Amino acid sequence: MPYGENTSPVTEAASTKPPVLSLVLPACNEAANVAPLHERLARAVEAAGFADAAEFIWVDDGSTDGTAERVEALAAADPRVRLVRFSRNFGHMAALTAGLDAARATGAVIMLDADGQHPPELIPDLVARWRAGAEIVQAVRRATADEPPLKRLTSRGFYRLLNHLGEVRLPEGASDFRLLDRQVADALRALPERHRFVRGLVHWVGFQMDTVPYDAPPRLAGRTKYSPARMLLFALDGITSFSVKPLRLAFGLGAAVLVLALIYGIYVIATWAAGRVVPGWTSLLLVVLIMGSIQLLTLGVMGVYIGRIYDEVKQRPLYIVRKPRR
Ligand code: UDP
Ligand code: MG
Repeated sequence: MPYGENTSPVTEAASTKPPVLSLVLPACNEAANVAPLHERLARAVEAAGFADAAEFIWVDDGSTDGTAERVEALAAADPRVRLVRFSRNFGHMAALTAGLDAARATGAVIMLDADGQHPPELIPDLVARWRAGAEIVQAVRRATADEPPLKRLTSRGFYRLLNHLGEVRLPEGASDFRLLDRQVADALRALPERHRFVRGLVHWVGFQMDTVPYDAPPRLAGRTKYSPARMLLFALDGITSFSVKPLRLAFGLGAAVLVLALIYGIYVIATWAAGRVVPGWTSLLLVVLIMGSIQLLTLGVMGVYIGRIYDEVKQRPLYIVRKPRR
């Protein structure tokens, strides 16, 4: 039976028992959002029926605005609050991973941004779908109130490209707002790779997924940490984590150029036979054409092998087994 439905997870010694629900909040310079967000989170877990069986894990990702101190103050007043503090800024994905590692929940882990763009009011919904049997409940963004058109356009293009190239299918607007059943969280933690494009990995591990649409409000306070340059790196990370197709492109290109070179080569030789050329032109062009295409082809072959090596060094498990729900 799913947790907390008829059995009350509430006990007198809630702090000594592991929580059922862990909330993971990656935070980089979100000081002004800590207190207001916590209030909403507390109300949301109460509405979901986990008031005494939840923990709030704030992962401070090298903030310089006193985010950690705010969380510490919160923890002093509310024992459910925990702080994982990075030694420096390691990035959003690392913060999510650290939160997963710290989560003690026996039931499920929910990750959401610490800026209010992932409304905590959606948590009871996520929990309900989990109770209904879903092992991953992914919140999918319908619209972002303050999103510039360019960001919307590039984001849509990115998901299209990734789905076209990769081995995973991500819903457009998939965010880092989701609930993971304990065993999905464990499967994610078992992935050994260092570049963690969490959105893709969550889909890669499989399991039963449900989605909940939401409208993203503007962030509460502070500024976005994803500059256009950082978005680009993030997108590149996503694509290279899940596809070796760009590597194989060189092979296809080399093969195509070789065919064209052969055709043009015939023309070059015919022109030479007709005796209408400057001496040296024929041999020069032939050498350039053939060498060029052979180089591209060789690069492509290397690309294919590098792709294989890359797949191997990732050391992803070959499969992940699903255990029956406890
Ligand atoms: N974040 C983080 N480390 C970073 C960048 C961002 O922990 O290096 C957190 C940030 O505090 C927020 C979430 O990741 O809770 C999403 O970041 P942001 O809101 O800046 O991105 P956007 O919503 O604009 O894409
Ligand atoms: Mg945000």
